[in-house]
Amino acid sequence: MAKIPEAMKRMFKNVFVCRNCSTKIRSEPRKILEGKVKCRKCNGRVFRPVRKK
Ligand SMILES: [Zn+2]
Repeated sequence: MAKIPEAMKRMFKNVFVCRNCSTKIRSEPRKILEGKVKCRKCNGRVFRPVRKK
């Protein structure tokens, strides 16, 4: 069980989903918060973490 959280972190921690078109973007949370990340499809700047809860 100890190994899994780290893998999950790697897979989900830096992944965000565009609220407009649901494209997944991998980026650092800091960049998302600073608004430096643009969706490559719709150029939107609104993202949510890939996990809903
Ligand atoms: Zn988008």
